[in-house]
Amino acid sequence: MPRLFGTNGIRGIVNQEMTSELALKLGMATGTFFGRGSYVLGTDTRISNQMLKNAFTSGVLSVGGDIIDVGIVPSPTLQYSVPYLCAQAGAMITASHNPPEFNGIKIIDSDGTEAERGIEEKIENIFHKDAYRLVFWDAIGQVQYMDTRDRYRDAVRSQVNESLIQEKKFTVVLDCGNGAGSMVMPYLLRELGCRVVSLNCQPDGLFPGRLPEPTRDTLSDLLCMVQGNTADMGVALDGDADRAVFVTETGGYLDGDKTLALMAHHLVSPGEKCVTPVSSSSCISDVVTKNGGEMVYTRVGAPLVARKMIEVSAVFGGEENGGLIFPRHQYCRDGGMAMAVMLDIMAHTGKTLSQLAGEIPSYALFKGKVPCPPGEMERILEELVEGENQDMDLVDGVKIFLPEGWVLVRPSGTEPLIRVYAEARDPKTAEKIASMYLALVREMLK
Ligand code: MG
Repeated sequence: MPRLFGTNGIRGIVNQEMTSELALKLGMATGTFFGRGSYVLGTDTRISNQMLKNAFTSGVLSVGGDIIDVGIVPSPTLQYSVPYLCAQAGAMITASHNPPEFNGIKIIDSDGTEAERGIEEKIENIFHKDAYRLVFWDAIGQVQYMDTRDRYRDAVRSQVNESLIQEKKFTVVLDCGNGAGSMVMPYLLRELGCRVVSLNCQPDGLFPGRLPEPTRDTLSDLLCMVQGNTADMGVALDGDADRAVFVTETGGYLDGDKTLALMAHHLVSPGEKCVTPVSSSSCISDVVTKNGGEMVYTRVGAPLVARKMIEVSAVFGGEENGGLIFPRHQYCRDGGMAMAVMLDIMAHTGKTLSQLAGEIPSYALFKGKVPCPPGEMERILEELVEGENQDMDLVDGVKIFLPEGWVLVRPSGTEPLIRVYAEARDPKTAEKIASMYLALVREMLK
């Protein structure tokens, strides 16, 4: 049966793959799987949200579920609200960092985590068989509206030293990218005593300010504004504000791996665990192992990081794209927590963001790819493992530890490609390692 869910919920271009009919049937299937009870529903700022939300709502109501509509909220606010409201499940209508023409639906389990693969398969099964459990007319579900934004902000603030941060009176330039963060994050920073300079903080589904994905290329306005306002920090969020990217007071863009390492350095104590995908930079393991902590690696993909963190009771984890997970708060990527924790670290250490970033070792990463028929992938990986006498990690593809760095050869999850990532102390060496393995893979394919 064709799969409905990708690595991160269902995504597609609106009125092509992502239609109101799909949202309706998904609502019916989700409600049939989880059964009677309430479902918390939220959206980002996209202009197709009303269409998809109303369709999904109809689906859930028709199988007897109730909807608690929390409006436009960041994904982490929605995910926090599901267990907080003791709901059966939740759904977030968002395409996260994708361009404006996309939308998507993420199903959230009762504990606030993204539904695991097993649940998605059961929902897909109901969907493909049209096995919906429609209820009698007198058992149709009801809709109520609720605002949980205050509760979410209170919860985030309770995780950091609020009074110490407030004393510092930080100036923060916040770029919400016209996304769902606009509804919550400027106020969170204000409550933490910051002078907030807002950029693209008016919710707008056409995303006039910049594309919803925060990258070095899309953040030129933010970089200028941080320097122009003599700010202590710049932050940019993606469309649903589960990812946060940081800019130092000198206008320097912080790579996601550096942010991960910086936070791990201050959050992971001796004997504690930090989880990250196998593709992450060595700067993270350098600081974690130096502090007596332990690294645990997963396959690439955020829901997998969260699951692994639960399994090994990790204290911190995340991905290089700015998706950071703080389990004392909740097991999901959380842009609000990321901002608050960064301010907490600055307040406690008395150091600037550029000073903190300067304490983290630097590495260079080089990425390449080779087209590969899906049927050949297994053989290539097996031959690589057989031909190698270096230390290896086989969590996702083959990661080989070399004297001058490492190389990861893994099949793409979405395209007929083999990806090669190489990391070393300097860009030249990284490129040399990558070229060597790209050539090796091409040779094996002949
Ligand atoms: Mg996102």
